[in-house]
Amino acid sequence: MKSLSECSAPVSVEPGCVAGASGWSPGDWHSLAERVLAGGRITREEARAVLASGDEELLDVLAAAYRIRRQAFGNTVQLFFLMNAKSGLCPEDCGYCSQSKVSDAAIPRYNLLSAPKLLEAARIAAERQSKTFCIVISARGPTEREMDAVCSIVPEIKAKFDLNICACLGLLTPDQASRLAAAGVDKVNHNLNTSARFYPEICSTHTYEDRLSTLSACRSAGLQLCSGGIMGMGETHEDLIDMAEELRDLRVESIPLNFLNAIDGTPLQTTNRLNPRDCLRALAMMRLMNPAAEIRIAGGRELHLGSLQALGLYAANSMFVGDYLTTQGQLPEADYKMIEDLGFVITRGQEAAEPPAACT
Ligand code: SF4
Repeated sequence: MKSLSECSAPVSVEPGCVAGASGWSPGDWHSLAERVLAGGRITREEARAVLASGDEELLDVLAAAYRIRRQAFGNTVQLFFLMNAKSGLCPEDCGYCSQSKVSDAAIPRYNLLSAPKLLEAARIAAERQSKTFCIVISARGPTEREMDAVCSIVPEIKAKFDLNICACLGLLTPDQASRLAAAGVDKVNHNLNTSARFYPEICSTHTYEDRLSTLSACRSAGLQLCSGGIMGMGETHEDLIDMAEELRDLRVESIPLNFLNAIDGTPLQTTNRLNPRDCLRALAMMRLMNPAAEIRIAGGRELHLGSLQALGLYAANSMFVGDYLTTQGQLPEADYKMIEDLGFVITRGQEAAEPPAACT
């Protein structure tokens, strides 16, 4: 088995699209990387093979993902800082969420935070070397008052701090998306969460198509898209691959992959089907499928990746620093140490490279 550093040697293959599994031998992870580096795509069958690969192949799979990550992002890590600007009180019924109307999880519940509190949170985000400050509210979609508040605080934050702004406000109309763009919001987070097929299993108050409409409205408004999902809700490998393909087809710039933290009081409270190696395989599959996307190890990192969480950064190039929406993360100092130990560096400036010319 090659070491990770050996596997980052320059690639010499003819560029071009080599779509399809033809010629690919199962287990030849580096030929998959070479194809992607040359502008090709991996097939569903190959994505399936990544997710089903054996533990003895794990480092080779990760090394293949790392070659692609390195081409797009070098050894940089982007940090994101989450601010739960309005907690609980949501009328939706997403089964994984502690803030939904069907959750009786013991979480703080409060309305939209005041401007000074949001500014203070942004200050902490900048202090923690975050590239992006994420303003999140629990809602089906923002009220007029919430839209006004976000649109007025964003220019203030950007004037004071060197931060990108990501807004996660629920479903958005085209007009709301345009207003956010005009206010200086850089990107909108709206996760697909899972596949179209599995979506009705996790939510009944809105549809997968509603989510696609919001992403489409944001794209039309010129906003970057942050959209990913949650692993460990009872979905199959096919669902994970569907989601990865959809995100690729949407050319999403930023992909957070969460690992379900089954919170007591939520409908999915007893769901716990993850092991750290499966989480790593999913991150590698996401990287092979979305070579130039900023891929973030999101919620559940500490819980599910555990002692292997550093390995996740060989596929992903981003993570949250600090706490999640209603659960705690590890201390920022532990994150900085992990990044330093890997020989990686925190960046606040690098955008995703242009995707390689992809097969259509
Ligand atoms: S819409 Fe958002 S805040 Fe509301 S229940 Fe779903 S995930 Fe939670």
